[in-house]
Amino acid sequence: MKISDNKIKRNIFQASSVIRDSKCTVAFTGAGISVESGIPPFRGPDGLWTKYDPVFLDINYFRNNPVKSWQLIKEIFFDFIGKARPNTAHYALSNLEKSGYIHSIITQNIDNLHQEAGSTSVIEYHGTIKNLKCMKCLRRFPSEDISLKRLPPICPECGGLLRPDFVFFGEPIQEEAGQLSRKKAENADVMLLIGTTGEIMPASLIPYTSKNTGATIIEVNISESTYSSKITDIFLHGKASEILTVLAQEVEQERGSHLKY
Ligand code: ZN
Repeated sequence: MKISDNKIKRNIFQASSVIRDSKCTVAFTGAGISVESGIPPFRGPDGLWTKYDPVFLDINYFRNNPVKSWQLIKEIFFDFIGKARPNTAHYALSNLEKSGYIHSIITQNIDNLHQEAGSTSVIEYHGTIKNLKCMKCLRRFPSEDISLKRLPPICPECGGLLRPDFVFFGEPIQEEAGQLSRKKAENADVMLLIGTTGEIMPASLIPYTSKNTGATIIEVNISESTYSSKITDIFLHGKASEILTVLAQEVEQERGSHLKY
């Protein structure tokens, strides 16, 4: 464990106690948790938008220029992100779910890494790269079953244009994901914010829903976010992988010591 700062240690101890006492802890994750899996965030100095024009993810642009759009989608989301593997932060959350301390994860990421790490209760607020969806018949297909050698890919059932099953710019959040996230956020006693800056609407409102219904907000980030001074109760400063590994150990250890007595 590399965490030597006493203040962070104290905060981790406090956070672990809050999580142990919580009946319903929901994690809300953003790009920061996947950075250590080699996935650059979209925003920021090294973000994808410094290299690519975000217009190719605009739904109207996609409809009018499916081949151009698909070339970049393939390069970024399938050739590159599709090969990323979960890191210790993803595994720490999945272990906490197995031992009953994390009830759900709401993620803004589309990389499927929470599920690959073994988490089962995951709401993908912005959809996923794991499936493609036909724009005509609306059937979904596992991405791995569809060849991307010729672009754009077409629906094996009806010949319609296939798109990734994630939310494009200019599109609303899928209703089911939106409603479920709201419900989970309202029911949470504790919300654990991880690697999210709070800049992407409407996802950024979810932690406020929890706060307004009385949840304790624990934030794990490498720097302060738009939440830190407004709603965060316990701020754990550091990389998601390091903080979550220690936090999970602390929560589990306490459980062990309770069992002894
Ligand atoms: Zn179709």
